[in-house]
Amino acid sequence: MRQTLVMGNWKLNGSKTMVAELINALKAPAAEAGNVAVAVCPPVLFLGQAQELLADSTIALGAQDADVHTQGAFTGENSPAMYGEFGVQYVLVGHSERRTLHAESDAVVAAKFAAIQQAGLVPVLCIGETLEQFEANETQAVVERQLQAVIDQSGIQALASAVIAYEPVWAIGTGKTATPEIAQGVHAAIRAFLAQQDATVAAGVQILYGGSVKGASAAGLFAMDDIDGALVGGAALQADEFAAIIKAGA
Ligand code: 13P
Repeated sequence: MRQTLVMGNWKLNGSKTMVAELINALKAPAAEAGNVAVAVCPPVLFLGQAQELLADSTIALGAQDADVHTQGAFTGENSPAMYGEFGVQYVLVGHSERRTLHAESDAVVAAKFAAIQQAGLVPVLCIGETLEQFEANETQAVVERQLQAVIDQSGIQALASAVIAYEPVWAIGTGKTATPEIAQGVHAAIRAFLAQQDATVAAGVQILYGGSVKGASAAGLFAMDDIDGALVGGAALQADEFAAIIKAGA
C-alpha cells in the first residue's frame, strides 16, 4: 500500500515572515492527517529557518533543485550533501521550469538524480509533456524517455528509493488541472512502463500528480488508483488551500 504524499513546491516565493506563518499554520493539518506524508520545499535560503520551525512537526523538508557536485568551484550552486545538513529529505529534480528555463537535459537530470541518492536523499523526479506534445499524442513517449534516462544512469532499482511527479507542463500555473481520468491514464501507463523492467519497483513507487492542484480538485485525483499524492505549486503558498489538499488525502 502506497502512502499518500502531499508536497508543496514554493518555487521562488517567500520571506522570513511568510515561512514562519505558513509552516506554523500547516503543523496542525499535517498532524491531523496522520496517514498522509506532508513535505514543503521552500527556497534554499529559508531551509535553515524551516528546519528549526519543523523540528516539532510531522512535516518533512524538501529542496527544489541540487547541483551534481558535492563541493568545489561551482559558483551559486548547492549540493545534496549540504541539504542533508539542514534535515532535507526530498529534492525535486527535473522540474519543467528547470528543464525549460535552465536548459536541463535528460542527461543532466539523470546525473542530478544520482547525486541526490548518493547523498542519501530522496529524489522527486519531475516528468511531463508540453501542450504541443500533449496535442500531438506524445505524452507517453515523452515521459518514458524522461524516465529511461534516469534508469539508464542509476538502474531501475534506484526508483525504489525515489518519488515520481507527473506534471503536465500545460497544467502548471495555468489553472488547467488534468482531469483525474487523464492523470490516472498517464500514471497507470508510467507504472506499466516501469513494470516491464521491475514489477516490484513499479508497484511500490509513489507517483504524484502536479499541475494546478487545489483543495477542490485534490480528492478526485487522490481517488484514482495510481495517483499517490500531489506536488503543489501556487496552492501550497496558501495555508488554507494546502491544508484542504492534505485533508483530501486523509
Ligand atoms: P501549480 O500548482 O502552481 O500549477 O504548480 C505545479 C508545480 O509546478 C509544482 O511543482
